[in-house]
Amino acid sequence: MLRVRANVTLSSGAANELAALQAKVDGEADYPARVAAAKRRWGNTKKRESPFDEVTTALDKMCWGHHRCAYCEDSLADEIEHFWPKDLYPERVFAWENYLYACGPCNGPKGNAFAILPPGSTNAIEVARGTQTPIVPPIVGDPALLDPRRDDPLDFLELDLVETFRFRERTGIAPRDRERARYTIVTLGLNARSAVIDARRTAYDLLLLALESVVTRVREQRPLDHARRVVENTSHRSVWEEMKRQHTRLPELTLPFSVAPIALDW
Ligand SMILES: [Zn+2]
Repeated sequence: MLRVRANVTLSSGAANELAALQAKVDGEADYPARVAAAKRRWGNTKKRESPFDEVTTALDKMCWGHHRCAYCEDSLADEIEHFWPKDLYPERVFAWENYLYACGPCNGPKGNAFAILPPGSTNAIEVARGTQTPIVPPIVGDPALLDPRRDDPLDFLELDLVETFRFRERTGIAPRDRERARYTIVTLGLNARSAVIDARRTAYDLLLLALESVVTRVREQRPLDHARRVVENTSHRSVWEEMKRQHTRLPELTLPFSVAPIALDW
């Protein structure tokens, strides 16, 4: 998991259309009515029509690799994910800043799971509502989940490139940040799918081969375009980001990056 590739701005036309949809939800009499309206109106939107045709195109541009999921980086991203769940935060159901492109296997289990860190607290408090729970607004605070549009998840997380290819909390970060890292790993199941972990390992092998090719080509003064395309399009971009970040302490990466430091800019 890492920061989105780009933060895209919508055209004013699409932004205005979203704002008009949001205003209808916000205009409901009270919070339970706004929750119901958000669910109903979101269900009625046609994702291939304006403004969602533009929204999905913009979300595509924000994905790494070939339209990979913003959370697992593994699967095709084809579902609009509300970072702040629409059932809890109806005031964000049509907010562009609240959208990410995610895959079904990530979007489904996350569902309405969402936790808040109250000011000054280091304990994430789950705010997802059960079926018997009164429909009232969640407690106030910051999201525990890392938001790849606003946070740089790699400030909080580290990928083990030596053995496990699992994400872990970075050492030396503040307790509140550590709690966000922990909550994100568990809630998104970043280490829960063995196929995803295997895919990270394969990405590492491919990227290492590409890097070795870069070294050869630099020495022979040949073009680097192919290798660069492999680096830019291989799924699991966080593996490449970690290879760059950890290259001075991983011997098999130290030499290639020292011969071809240009790859540190890719
Ligand atoms: Zn996913």
